[in-house]
Amino acid sequence: MKSSILGVKIDQVTMEEAVAKIAAMIAEPKPHLVITANSEMVMAAKRDPLLYEIIERADLVVPDGIGLIWAGRILNQPLPERVPGVELMEALLAEGVRRQWRVFLLGAEPAVVEQAAKRIAVQYNGINIVGTHHGFFKREEQQQVLDKIKGSHPDILFVALGVPKQEKFAAAHLASLGVPVAMGVGGSFDIFAGTARRAPYWMRRIGLEWLYRILKQPTRIRRAAALPQFAFWVFMEKLFLGGKAADG
Ligand code: UDP
Repeated sequence: MKSSILGVKIDQVTMEEAVAKIAAMIAEPKPHLVITANSEMVMAAKRDPLLYEIIERADLVVPDGIGLIWAGRILNQPLPERVPGVELMEALLAEGVRRQWRVFLLGAEPAVVEQAAKRIAVQYNGINIVGTHHGFFKREEQQQVLDKIKGSHPDILFVALGVPKQEKFAAAHLASLGVPVAMGVGGSFDIFAGTARRAPYWMRRIGLEWLYRILKQPTRIRRAAALPQFAFWVFMEKLFLGGKAADG
């Protein structure tokens, strides 16, 4: 089942269900795209038809942000819980140790992705990281990066290039890479590397992780302008459409 939030379809999944679905995808030979969506991404998709189509075609779209949970409730299309991208990645790494998955990390600054891989290897003892590459490669280097990924045959490709670059990159190259699962994870490598921190638990619990991120990185304030716009459109949809029944 999916919730339609301002026309963007988000899967009604819990963290546990998301991990199970991704495990099932890895067992299949065809490539899959997993998207970690938040309200900023929904607003971006309203302006960007390519991003909208990529989300529409994705195999799994998890509700990463609290804004989507809130909107789902208002629009009578409830999403069961937040599935933050970084936590989903943690859960997949833990599962990856048990199931011997091959993992590739693509994105972030060179030192960050290296440090993230080192710390992941320690924290998830036995994880098979088959390759890493930073996310600041030039156009002319892209083929080399793609060859490196393809040659290392990962089961999961974590892509940390930021939204919408990571979704566009993954969607464009998914078929040729033949990777069972590609998933956009935003700033997660910075968190694994220790160069960025998540909001303290109490802030996350009361749904203020987004505020913490703005306070820590005030340059995000421009992007945060999407949040009141998102709330406005959710209220408009509620007032004029009354919140539709869940579909899909
Ligand atoms: N990044 C990258 N290549 C780029 C632009 C960004 O690898 O061309 C990385 C950046 O270093 C960071 C991540 O992408 O690690 C984006 O983090 P952000 O917190 O902005 O993610 P979002 O909020 O978009 O999920």
